[in-house]
Amino acid sequence: MQTTAASMSSRTLLSALVAGSLAWTAILATPGALAQDTAKPATPPAAPAAAKPRIHEILAQSDADVQAFNDHVTILSNPWMEGRLPGTRGMEYAMNYMEDQFKKAGLEPAFQPSDGSAKTYRQPFSLGGQRQVTQETIVVKCGGTEKALVAGKDFKFTSLGKNGTVEGPVAFVGYGLENAEKKYTSFAEGHSLEGKIALVLRFEPMDANGKSLWSGGDGWSGQAGFQGKIAAVAKRKPAAIIVVNTPGANDPRVSSLNAGGGRAMCDVPVFMMSAEAAGDLVSRCDGKRSLMDLRKIADAPTAGVAQSFDLDGSTLAVAGVSEEKPVRAENVVGVLPGQGALAKEVIVIGGHLDHLGMGDFGSREGPGKLHPGADDNASGAAGIMLLANSLTKAYKDAPLGTPLRSILFVGFSAEESGLNGSRHYVDNPIYPIKDTVLMMNFDMIGRIKNSRLSVTASDGVKGFKEWYQPIYAQSGVKVVEAVSRGGGGGGSDHASFQSVGVPILFAIIADFHDDYHTSRDTLDKIDREEAVKAVRLWHELAWSMTQRADRFEIDSTSGPMRAQPMKVRVGLRTRDTDDASGIEIVDVTKDGSADKAGLKKGDKIVKWNKHELKDRQGFVDDLRAQEPGAKIQAVVLRDGKEVTVYITLEAAKETP
Ligand SMILES: [Zn+2]
Repeated sequence: MQTTAASMSSRTLLSALVAGSLAWTAILATPGALAQDTAKPATPPAAPAAAKPRIHEILAQSDADVQAFNDHVTILSNPWMEGRLPGTRGMEYAMNYMEDQFKKAGLEPAFQPSDGSAKTYRQPFSLGGQRQVTQETIVVKCGGTEKALVAGKDFKFTSLGKNGTVEGPVAFVGYGLENAEKKYTSFAEGHSLEGKIALVLRFEPMDANGKSLWSGGDGWSGQAGFQGKIAAVAKRKPAAIIVVNTPGANDPRVSSLNAGGGRAMCDVPVFMMSAEAAGDLVSRCDGKRSLMDLRKIADAPTAGVAQSFDLDGSTLAVAGVSEEKPVRAENVVGVLPGQGALAKEVIVIGGHLDHLGMGDFGSREGPGKLHPGADDNASGAAGIMLLANSLTKAYKDAPLGTPLRSILFVGFSAEESGLNGSRHYVDNPIYPIKDTVLMMNFDMIGRIKNSRLSVTASDGVKGFKEWYQPIYAQSGVKVVEAVSRGGGGGGSDHASFQSVGVPILFAIIADFHDDYHTSRDTLDKIDREEAVKAVRLWHELAWSMTQRADRFEIDSTSGPMRAQPMKVRVGLRTRDTDDASGIEIVDVTKDGSADKAGLKKGDKIVKWNKHELKDRQGFVDDLRAQEPGAKIQAVVLRDGKEVTVYITLEAAKETP
């Protein structure tokens, strides 16, 4: 890496942009920006090293496409965009920005609303419900005093139970566990919980260092999760359940009120409470003992000491109400109309605009921090905006009468929650699928290393390779080629198109990074110049395809659409659940893909490869489209908690 005065300054400005210390209007007004800090300036700085170049001098040195790419990624990944979660104000800003860029490039609005009103740049669709808490209160009443606890700090209403507003005496029920093997029970004989508010400790009996007494090693046993204790307590008919972060537990989760996005496990309201708030409640209401004293009773049951009991004289008034609010999402769609005999055929160039918000789902770190998604997929969306511009110019410059296909540019929404925007599109196409000759998808082109770009192409498309390979060869990008067969293959929006028989090209960084789906996917790590090379490759491919006399023919035996024998093996046996809420793992093959990824017997797979998994059929269909070596994200429910795992699929054994 070469460190020059110029690159130092560019880094300083970039960190200012990242930190949001420049006004939003100033960022919007900034005409261009900077090459990545590893890049050599086009000309050496004129001033001696001592005099640092001004920002406008750095801007002037970088290529116009690099500047535009930088502008787009900077804007899409800044904190005002709130991680571009569908349904948020930040996502609305991001869509406005993309729409505005499409307009400036000269694209026409592509979506015709069904009520016959004017065409728009937005294709709306419903995303189903999203849980929103509309009320959460806990008031502690004891000794003639009342104290309202602070939602979000002292406690939180969870999705583990149902809505409710109740008032009742407080009963302590230890860890809320029964373990016949260990002759352990948290429930004193004859102690009724009916109509009471049950205070239950998180995890399981622990030693003085806060480590499990039951797991026989690191971590917790299978009983420490929410599901078992909530079921055991709920069986005894309390009016509400409060799970308390156990003081002194050796687990970082004990400082969080997050109970995961799990489904309801009982039909009374369930809250999480901090150790501090619960400690205050116990000392104020019980008067004699601390919360730690109560924990010790539960850790080491002693003959003659009741394991569960009422906290005399204390009453809690609790209320928790949440609603499922429908979320409306929109694909941003603009069209560059073709001309001549080819105009009715269309090429779709797309990439997803959405990301994970504050890590609300799909995050590898859990919720709470901004997930800017600079690489995933502000980079790809930025590429789409550059292409809208460059291809519009190319169309204007084309000799009159040259037959050109139409090009539809799409910023897909809700990709991260399961390719929702692209699936909606192929079910409700703006141009007929039969006239859609190619789909080109960008997902993560911002952190290309050593010029290596992975491009996946549909298999079984006649003449496809012969067409794209010479274009790759001239691009200056080291294309790492892959092919994909069958419907649904792969984890981004192109898969939706491939599943309806449209040939696809899909570009993504060839060398994956560890910041994927974390708060660390930030602007400062983006390599703008390499990304622009990928954009230029995409331009050349699109420009060639738009004039190609013939569309590609699909081989009826090996092209997109045809089901293939399974090429991968997961190494587990599963069964459907009664309510189609996922599939349950009944056996895990030792040292198989699933075992290596940490999947366990009893886990319920609820999400697979970014899709909600309902039944085995869906699972098998997805596996048919996978190639050996594919890395799949899966979410399983284990002890009532969602656990995310990454499975590298191994090759299926050859069957003789
Ligand atoms: Zn992505």
